[in-house]
Amino acid sequence: MPLFWASFNNAHTRIQSGGWARQVTQADFAISTDFAGVNMRLDAGGIREMHWHQQSEWAFVSNGTCRITILDQLGRPQVADVGAGGLWFFPPGLPHSLQGVGPDGAEFILAFDNGASSEFNTLLLTNWLAHTPPEVLAKNFGVPAETFRNIPLDNLWIFQGEVPGPLAADQAAAQGNAARPPQSFVFDLAGMTPNKQTKGGNVRIADSTNFHTSTTTAVAMVTVHPGGMREMHWHPNADEWQYYVKGQARMTVFNTGPQAMTADFRPGDIGYIKKSLGHYIENTGTDDLVFLEVFKTPHYEEVTLTDWLTHTPPAMVAQTLNTDQAAIRSFPRGIPDVLPV
Ligand code: MN
Ligand code: MN
Repeated sequence: MPLFWASFNNAHTRIQSGGWARQVTQADFAISTDFAGVNMRLDAGGIREMHWHQQSEWAFVSNGTCRITILDQLGRPQVADVGAGGLWFFPPGLPHSLQGVGPDGAEFILAFDNGASSEFNTLLLTNWLAHTPPEVLAKNFGVPAETFRNIPLDNLWIFQGEVPGPLAADQAAAQGNAARPPQSFVFDLAGMTPNKQTKGGNVRIADSTNFHTSTTTAVAMVTVHPGGMREMHWHPNADEWQYYVKGQARMTVFNTGPQAMTADFRPGDIGYIKKSLGHYIENTGTDDLVFLEVFKTPHYEEVTLTDWLTHTPPAMVAQTLNTDQAAIRSFPRGIPDVLPV
């Protein structure tokens, strides 16, 4: 089977004053057609420079707080602080910036919805200005060409800036007389009530039904307690891109053939499962396992074996598995997601 394990931990880290980033794209992880992943750290005041790109950008903050700015296609700005466990979603083409907030900046995971895209090939404000004649800049902005005498000639990408002040002041300064976006581009995933809660753990789902601006990316954040298991299941509508936040896991993926492959996952690792291939994830450690299932789709969908086998005539299931119907009737019901119930 194609390799379905990759890791930020052995990816090249590009370090600059103000922060660093490392990425896993299809160049290193061929199976990952739907997403390219980036792990970025911005120090307090560190700025990921103003830019935009052709892919959507979905993000999960793993540590600290990040101040985001974005302008939508109707000229409506948003400035927001996103803390640990929070998400943002930037649709393709909408310009944005990121900055680490005090006291300790931010670390986060970005998922671009094109496996071939690269964090190092975005459309950067500094690049465009540096490659536009000063006379054109003067005409465009209505100021003398000398205004742009000292602009950077090489792009900044990540650079050290001043630690940002109060959020409300930045929001007011950016707002002017523009309207506000009708829906927020940020969402508190860790703060939401779990969709599923069992003895084995819990699941929180953010897709376009509750995180309304996230129109093309859905996520399930799964917590599995020691000894627990994310039940045998698959997703009928999309490939799954995984990021392991903490703990340790073992995943097996089942394919046609029959083929199957098993790998261990630790924090910083990435998994990838093609649409509709069966899989399950065991917590093999002594602490909680937390991982993200990320999908290029407006709506999270799954099919589980427990649900299928408890909603098929028991005689059919018993004959197929050569077992008795009483055992089948005792299977977990209601799609628990994380076992034990
Ligand atoms: Mn971006
Ligand atoms: Mn899954």
